[in-house]
Amino acid sequence: MISLVEQYKLFGISKEVLAFSEEILSSLKKRFDEIDENAEYNQLKVVHAMQECSVSEACLSGTTGYGYNDLGRDTLESVYASVFHTEAALVRPQITCGTHALALALMSNLRPGDELLSPVGKPYDTLEEVIGIRPSKGSLREYGISYKQVDLLPDGAFDYEGIRNAINAKTKLVTIQRSKGYQTRPTLSVTKIGELIHFIKEIKPDVICMVDNCYGEFVEIIEPTDVGADMVVGSLIKNPGGGLAPIGGYIAGKEECVENAAYRLTSPGLGKEVGASLGVLSSFYQGLFLAPTVTANALKGAIFAANIYERIGFPVIPDGTESRHDIIQAVTLGSPEGVIAFCQGIQAAAAVDSFVTPEPWDMPGYDSKVIMAAGAFVSGSSIELSADGPIAPPYAVYFQGGLTFPHAKLGIMKSLQNLIDQEIISGDFHKLK
Ligand SMILES: *Cc1c(COP(=O)(O)O)cnc(C)c1O
Repeated sequence: MISLVEQYKLFGISKEVLAFSEEILSSLKKRFDEIDENAEYNQLKVVHAMQECSVSEACLSGTTGYGYNDLGRDTLESVYASVFHTEAALVRPQITCGTHALALALMSNLRPGDELLSPVGKPYDTLEEVIGIRPSKGSLREYGISYKQVDLLPDGAFDYEGIRNAINAKTKLVTIQRSKGYQTRPTLSVTKIGELIHFIKEIKPDVICMVDNCYGEFVEIIEPTDVGADMVVGSLIKNPGGGLAPIGGYIAGKEECVENAAYRLTSPGLGKEVGASLGVLSSFYQGLFLAPTVTANALKGAIFAANIYERIGFPVIPDGTESRHDIIQAVTLGSPEGVIAFCQGIQAAAAVDSFVTPEPWDMPGYDSKVIMAAGAFVSGSSIELSADGPIAPPYAVYFQGGLTFPHAKLGIMKSLQNLIDQEIISGDFHKLK
């Protein structure tokens, strides 16, 4: 049998990197305990929802063809509605990704002449083409749906005055992105989202408030729908799929919003009644069951990374001590070489495709080159250990995921080792104290 030190050595990780990591970890016990408490609460929430909806063995097998009377699909949608405390939900393998889920929610609930408002600044990159901020075929803009944006104030606070001025007779839907995405702004807590929704509904009560919930699910014990959101939207290859869902997206919210989305996803007249679940339901159920603890592991990885890189002297968002509202950790490495070495380190820790060397490339939907480290069981899954960064100033990487904490820990240690081996940083940790 070989020792733990030797196990790490098999991955090229030095004694010094291991010792440094252990020292950082020993300071994080209390925070990790709090994360475990949240996971416990959310685990109960999910199990309760499954019991309440009488999930049975029969729900785990799917349908083919039209998918009429798909018990498992319909029950799963009730489970999601119960977890998010909403009237209804649409949870489908036919929703191909998070962008698709968001586009669906927007396109089905907006009509020509309506206006969409983002009161939290620029939305996620891929949404720019959905909205038509960057011209694109089939965008909302092509359909005569206009867009307004109010940026956050320099300190990250809401620009309440600007938001009040932006809301007008045409404003039909407000989109609020919970996570920072590829930006270095703070992620919004659910409580803050609630304050914003309250403010907006006081000005215009019938406006639909939608939250892009990507990466936020189960990080806190409340969700945006607990504080007034009419719709939450996300991807099943992020948090709520628990690493098991091989595809899919969800929309949970008011009956009418979800119905609109269903008629757009399939067809007017058909709505939720069709859409075979094929063979994916058992992974959707089991993934949701695991999601609270998987999210907790990813969160621990993010906090570990923040503390490691902060100590070395790189700007990190959130910082090492801040409370968390999503699983993304931004580390500003300040150079293209730093971003590339970090991502290659994460890839080298993967269970799948560890021998692949990721390189920056022109990814559809993004406006600069992006490097992505993703050795995943589910292709592109970012609840699994992954990192990505646009090759553009300030040269930040966005690290996320890790189905288990030990794996997230290995990935971060490997990224650090890579930066040292390539002489981008010094390995002399004693100097840091
Ligand atoms: C990932 C993400 C999306 C898009 O999801 P995809 O599955 O990559 O299409 C949208 N918004 C946010 C905040 C995200 O993190």
